[in-house]
Amino acid sequence: MNSVNKEVVIIGNGPSAITLSYMLSGNWPFYKKDQTLNPNEFLHQRLIDDSVINKSLVEQDLEYLSDGLEGRSINKVSLLLDQLQHPEADFGVENPSTLQWKYFPDKAIDHVVIGKGLPGGAWHSMNDCKEILTISLGSWMQLPDMEIREWCSQHRRESRVSLSTVANYYYNYVKNKDLMKNFKHFSTVTSVRFDRQINKYQIDGYDSNGDEFKYQTPRVVLATGNCDRINRLGVPGEDLPFVLHSLNELEQLIAQSKVKSTTDPILIVGAGLSAADAVIAARFRKVPIIHAFRRHPEDPALIFNQLPENMYPEYHSVHSKMKAKSLSSSGYEALPMHCVKEIKSNKEVILVNRIGVDDTCLTTSVKIKVSYVLVLIGMKPNLTFVEKDLLCNLGIKKNEDIFSRSNPIAIDTYTHESLVAPGLYAMGPIIGDNFVRFVQGGALAITNHIHQQKLSLC
Ligand SMILES: Cc1cc2nc3c(=O)[nH]c(=O)nc-3n(C[C@H](O)[C@H](O)[C@H](O)COP(=O)(O)OP(=O)(O)OC[C@H]3O[C@@H](n4cnc5c(N)ncnc54)[C@H](O)[C@@H]3O)c2cc1C
Repeated sequence: MNSVNKEVVIIGNGPSAITLSYMLSGNWPFYKKDQTLNPNEFLHQRLIDDSVINKSLVEQDLEYLSDGLEGRSINKVSLLLDQLQHPEADFGVENPSTLQWKYFPDKAIDHVVIGKGLPGGAWHSMNDCKEILTISLGSWMQLPDMEIREWCSQHRRESRVSLSTVANYYYNYVKNKDLMKNFKHFSTVTSVRFDRQINKYQIDGYDSNGDEFKYQTPRVVLATGNCDRINRLGVPGEDLPFVLHSLNELEQLIAQSKVKSTTDPILIVGAGLSAADAVIAARFRKVPIIHAFRRHPEDPALIFNQLPENMYPEYHSVHSKMKAKSLSSSGYEALPMHCVKEIKSNKEVILVNRIGVDDTCLTTSVKIKVSYVLVLIGMKPNLTFVEKDLLCNLGIKKNEDIFSRSNPIAIDTYTHESLVAPGLYAMGPIIGDNFVRFVQGGALAITNHIHQQKLSLC
């Protein structure tokens, strides 16, 4: 089978890849000339300088523009694009974008976007989550030049939107922006390796019919997100049919009335936002809950201790419940600092209490009867399709698995090119950007770098 040649192959089809496809198709961002001062005065002055005022950000020096920027991303260009699209968002303000987008068909770069499902990446699988809201404001979930507020009537009223609305928005974005022709859906990449004979990356995979595909390219982009491997408890009984690992499955249980106020409680395991979403969704339907988590509720590392209370009242309400000793009469009972030890086929679960375990080595255990167990203890990327010799060198820490926080892929922060593999780029959670607001900066960095490379060849 012959390989198809592409200038760029993007693996993954979530918000990262969609934004990159938009820019590679020739849609370039410009700073709006006619606006009043951007709240970031230094940035504003750099962008209105006579030498760059008519240039797109794709043609500018991103290192100079992003110098001194600070915020909630470790990646400089992610901060830059975010400050231009959502000025002062870190203060919870919804300011209009300071960018306008122009289309240059002659700047388009031949590329393909390969993803396991429909466009939307992780969001596509959240299509059924109609009641759970985004953590971020709805406008922070949007992609360049298509306001979610204009697109979705629901958002005209609500500051946050449902996960399912976001999934639909991303799918419609690809349609509205005429990007569908670049997308290869229901397709899985099984191998990425560098072929030294042709000096290109070789990408292999198969589609949903089982048909194989092959691409050759000088540039491959990993935009594979953080959701392909679910963290598991690793305890006996975890594979029993009443043990679930996703919010989607909970929504289905609720929709089919398999859990209700009169059933045995659901055991929700975990202390992240997904576990909190599960608590909110289940309590909304008055389903009784036992909520077990390893940490102390006051642990500063808990996400609830980092979210501003005025913006996330429902998460703070869950956190208050987690701090209370027992609220069994209200249908919610917290088991802080407890770990699941065993899940039995008769739906009994044994949990071990970790309080004091470090000092005394003494533990106590509890046994509870449940209807279902919902394990929501995080996810991690799956990059096993990248050739082993390459993969083990990609992270900041060599020979260790890639993790969003502790071991992101090591990149040049202005180009998003790997520090060890020229022509291999990365964006999104695998380089530590976990919010849609920030993943889009990777698209600018990569488009800018490819443009500079092309100029140097002219
Ligand atoms: C429940 C939940 C709620 C969230 N809420 C928010 C929020 O409110 N605000 C916010 O900003 N962020 C939120 N996030 C985080 C957000 O989803 C991610 O930051 C974002 O989706 C990352 O985009 P991405 O394109 O990099 O990756 P993804 O959206 O994860 O897309 C990557 C896609 O690549 C696919 N893929 C992986 N390997 C291969 C392969 N070998 N072949 C083909 N395809 C492959 C994956 O299956 C996946 O579909 C939330 C995440 C979750 C799970």
